[in-house]
Amino acid sequence: MAHTPRVTPLPIVAIVGRPNVGKSTLFNRVVGHRKAIVEDRARTTRDRIYGDGEWNGRRFIVVDTGGLEVHPGDPIEEKVQEQARLAIAEADLIVFVVDSIAGLTPSDQEAAELLRVATAPVLVAANKADNDKRELEAAEFYSLGWEETYPISAAHGRGVADLLDAVVWALPPESEAEVSRKRREAKADAWAKEMASGRLSRVRDGDAEAIEMAAEGDGTAEMVFEDEAEHPVSIALVGRPNVGKSSLLNALLGEDRAIVSDIPGTTRDAIDTHVQWGRSEIVLIDTAGIKRPGKVAGGMAAERYSTLRALKAVERADVAVLLVDAFEGLTAQDAHIAGFVAEEGRGLVIALNKWDLLAEKTDRSFDEYVVAMRREVPFLDFAPVVSISAKTGQRVARVLELAVDVWGERRKRIPTPELNRIIRAASLRQAPPAGKLGPPKIFYATQVAVAPPTFVFFARHAEGVHFSYQRFLENQLREEFGFDGTPLRLIFRERASARLEGGVRPRGAGKGKPGVRAIPGSKHSRKGISASKRTQTGNRKPQ
Ligand code: GDP
Ligand code: GDP
Repeated sequence: MAHTPRVTPLPIVAIVGRPNVGKSTLFNRVVGHRKAIVEDRARTTRDRIYGDGEWNGRRFIVVDTGGLEVHPGDPIEEKVQEQARLAIAEADLIVFVVDSIAGLTPSDQEAAELLRVATAPVLVAANKADNDKRELEAAEFYSLGWEETYPISAAHGRGVADLLDAVVWALPPESEAEVSRKRREAKADAWAKEMASGRLSRVRDGDAEAIEMAAEGDGTAEMVFEDEAEHPVSIALVGRPNVGKSSLLNALLGEDRAIVSDIPGTTRDAIDTHVQWGRSEIVLIDTAGIKRPGKVAGGMAAERYSTLRALKAVERADVAVLLVDAFEGLTAQDAHIAGFVAEEGRGLVIALNKWDLLAEKTDRSFDEYVVAMRREVPFLDFAPVVSISAKTGQRVARVLELAVDVWGERRKRIPTPELNRIIRAASLRQAPPAGKLGPPKIFYATQVAVAPPTFVFFARHAEGVHFSYQRFLENQLREEFGFDGTPLRLIFRERASARLEGGVRPRGAGKGKPGVRAIPGSKHSRKGISASKRTQTGNRKPQ
């Protein structure tokens, strides 16, 4: 059995506390206001509850537990306790937020009781300590029993740096896998920059000489199309408790688990299951996080706290299968997890389970269901949808088929000339609307990475390419090349002109086709790259 590459998931920092203490304010400050593609997600109570945090070069996932759908109708105390349990079960570090204006309350104390048993470190943040006086008053929270409290003002930023210093210090040590992952991402970024500055030509698949040329000096090239083909397809089954994950797992594996080997994963008691699927080897990620079927999750059962666990599983997966209870429909929590999948650049398949429960189905039911769902969560329209019944076994095999297809779509490579033919046709049909600086002009595009497919567009006024136009380009790419089930990354880089200025011309690009030119750029065009880098690429991870 092939060796599975282990991608260490990022550590999870959970923000816990009563409503209104300032959890989401703190979350926003830590995550920053990086806009993700999932801005228009519908039916979510909060904008985002998961985000990437980074401090002193250390990366982590921040979770605002206040946005997690615990028991919606529960009284406040119970909600806080549930969040605390959830954090205890899965977080690597807990930030316990209290309100220094309101002072210590009974529900703070109850949550503290629970948090005391956490093995993960707990940092008490006394929020709303907006001035020196309140900062002093925040000392009352020492009575909770933790050695240190951090007076902060999430709204104004006061004390947040000290808190983050403590967070990073208290996190488990950075693993080798995390370090190498960061290195890979830095390389991907460096690659895009080098491309933009015209110092590199695009490496053509299997073109050893070109790879060598491009890699000359700083060795930025080889990672980009790093061949992952020999790795098994890794799939995470995610979804709320009781949507039918365990039933699906059982339906897929059958009673005969002899074909299966369980090996411990990287996270605490995460178990991955290897399955031979036709000619593909599939790894089902963290099957230990899925309870035994039949046991109804509810109340205090640890299984309820599956959301943070799902995040870790998604981080390690190529493709996530989001199970939705077709009878109940897509919930905010489902949309959040799906949003995370998209932001992480993982593949996504949506499985509408319990299809057997829908009464009076006609041959249009599925289509109507999908149309309604797409309307609600347009940012997920790249994901294929399948209706299944884990109970009767209807179409369950289709789930893995689709996931394997999506895995393939994520690895598609579009030759530069073909890509530019499409881009040119698209911008002829619809030119980018003018921004503040004037109309952007797209000169040239190239694919710089797979999994997820990542394209760099070189344009004049690159920063002015509106979100809706980016969507338009993305749709054109999808129409032409498919890419079903995989998010795409479109990066826009400033380029002053379409003229060749002594750069290297990618071989084979645009031969004999006027207008389809490789445009290595001018030196001065590098200006603006770093400014746009963060917002355009986020900190995405070609891997
Ligand atoms: P959550 O329910 O715990 O996520 O709390 P929110 O982040 O929504 O904040 C609740 C309220 O507290 C909002 O009105 C915020 O503006 C306010 N708030 C958050 N942080 C601070 C702070 O540092 N100082 C003050 N004075 N108000 C804050
Ligand atoms: P999990 O918490 O996501 O692992 O969900 P389970 O697999 O334990 O399923 C929760 C409940 O839903 C159980 O009672 C299952 O029997 C039931 N269930 C799961 N899949 C289906 C399905 O396709 N149809 C019907 N009618 N019930 C299902």
